[in-house]
Amino acid sequence: MESVTLLAVSKNFGPEAVRAAHAAGQRAFGENYVQEGLAKIAALADLRAGLEWHLIGPLQSNKTRAVAEAFDWVHTVDRPKIAQRLAEQRPPHLPPLQVCLQVNVSGEASKSGVAPAEAPALARAVAALPRARLVLRGLMSIPEPVEGFEAQRRPHRVLRELLAALAAEGLVLDTLSRGMSADLEAAIAEGATIVRVGTAIFGARG
Ligand SMILES: *Cc1c(COP(=O)(O)O)cnc(C)c1O
Repeated sequence: MESVTLLAVSKNFGPEAVRAAHAAGQRAFGENYVQEGLAKIAALADLRAGLEWHLIGPLQSNKTRAVAEAFDWVHTVDRPKIAQRLAEQRPPHLPPLQVCLQVNVSGEASKSGVAPAEAPALARAVAALPRARLVLRGLMSIPEPVEGFEAQRRPHRVLRELLAALAAEGLVLDTLSRGMSADLEAAIAEGATIVRVGTAIFGARG
């Protein structure tokens, strides 16, 4: 079985909560909002080498430079333009930015993410960018909340099958970022490699 990375989603919690989780051994943290994430990264600069920062919320093109300069991962690439800008703006002295494509598996109009049918073309475009600056690692989704293990597995299975289809085209990716506090078990059963957990670690966001 593949190992599963626990991404602690620290949105709405202050730097002190991240510091406490780091002291308890947690290394990877997820932020939804660019400004909030940047402020926390700055406030925790003394721990920077021991932390991995993941952007898991929407990214507009006017914020790509700040993200390319400060984060380690971006899970929410859904257009070639965003990936191009991140690659161009990633400072050469940093390791390549690790990215996932956000896929809209539930087909909800309000959610961001590329449609599953358009994901292969986007993946090819992103994988063609300079790997010294940006590396395509896999796929991410935020499924519509549903009750019940089997119903929760279905959208996760769509993403796993998409990853397999990309592998069949020669694009071998190793990351599936799915699963939040409410559907962790279903996500892991369908091969999640990163689970994004907020509430179950830090408590309710109030
Ligand atoms: C808030 C959030 C999470 C964590 O959600 P919880 O229900 O608190 O575990 C995971 N992924 C994304 C994209 C989020 O916005």
